[in-house]
Amino acid sequence: MIRKRVPCVYCRRLFYPNSRCRNPKACSDPECQRRRRNSSHKQWRDDDPQICADRREASREWRRNNPGHMQKYRKKHPEYVEDNRRKQQRRRFLRRVVKSIVIAAQPLEKSNEFVRPRMRCNINLHSLSPRNCPTRAP
Ligand SMILES: [Zn+2]
Repeated sequence: MIRKRVPCVYCRRLFYPNSRCRNPKACSDPECQRRRRNSSHKQWRDDDPQICADRREASREWRRNNPGHMQKYRKKHPEYVEDNRRKQQRRRFLRRVVKSIVIAAQPLEKSNEFVRPRMRCNINLHSLSPRNCPTRAP
């Protein structure tokens, strides 16, 4: 049987799909696999929001019944704390970027025509440079 190469929906590179995969979408690149997993998980959550709410509530109840668990866990796993801190910094950074893009996309009022958006929205664009973006955990 001749195997045909198909384009990856994320990076557009051609790849040989696994013969057991009925509907190949993503190549084996870890970044594409991560995106494929995240997207299918999001689909799953969107299909049934109630199950997510139920699980969140069950998790909350478990934490209520086991106070101090997370504090102990963090003490025992400093690498988790460090990883979580990096992820949170990244989320904050990306939220700032999105916010600044939204603000920059708004039209200036007539009276402020000479004011540059950067000054008006009071966002330091240098801090949004990709160089300052916290990296994803290795
Ligand atoms: Zn890919």
